[in-house]
Amino acid sequence: MNKDQLRQYLEYYQDLGVRDLYRQPQPAVAAGEAPSMPLVLSLAPDHDTLEKISDDIGDCKRCGLHEGRNKIVFGSGNPKAQLVFVGEGPGADEDEQGQPFVGRAGQLLTQMIDGTARKEGIPITRQDVYICNVVKCRPPENRTPQPDEMEICGQFLFRQIEAIRPKAICALGSTAAKAVLGTKEGVTRLRGKWHKWRDIPVMVTYHPSYLLRPYNQNAKKEAWEDLKLVLHYVYD
Ligand code: URA
Repeated sequence: MNKDQLRQYLEYYQDLGVRDLYRQPQPAVAAGEAPSMPLVLSLAPDHDTLEKISDDIGDCKRCGLHEGRNKIVFGSGNPKAQLVFVGEGPGADEDEQGQPFVGRAGQLLTQMIDGTARKEGIPITRQDVYICNVVKCRPPENRTPQPDEMEICGQFLFRQIEAIRPKAICALGSTAAKAVLGTKEGVTRLRGKWHKWRDIPVMVTYHPSYLLRPYNQNAKKEAWEDLKLVLHYVYD
């Protein structure tokens, strides 16, 4: 990265409302050797924690979603989880309670995690994993988050994942898949196989809201298969 690219990169994040920049310590450089610039600067501090990320989000007004929200939905579960689920964004129940996946889709997600783990003899329940969303504020009328909203909030999602450092990520639905994998490919093509976010394996599966629709019952079976793969990979 040259100086101009670096300036553009920093200005871009400044425009998004990022005020703090954390420098990773660079390895010592031998005399006479030019120090190399990292290709991608990390916007996360060293020893980042979920508390610090939540403090940095603060009373966020970085995008338009803050206008209609009641509560920021940061995430919930075990901060040392080996598995992180990523959804799209809070719905009405989540916005009211400040917790992710507590409405109908959330109840189905709980059943999927607890039920699959029990059937497969894996001794975990929902509280052992970590659950969060791409955007932390409810989009109006539950619309899909827009690219700028995903980009702005995505920095916090990525810091959450880096702070937890799970063994695997499960992306629920196409918005989560797009945010985590940077792909436009649909869930049907992505599901059932492993992908990567940085060095962490990612499984994509259907969003529980999609599975609640009566005509998507076949997808339910596939989601259960995906979840089995994830749980065995992480906990065996
Ligand atoms: N749908 C989501 O994507 N996330 C939630 O937290 C609830 C519903």
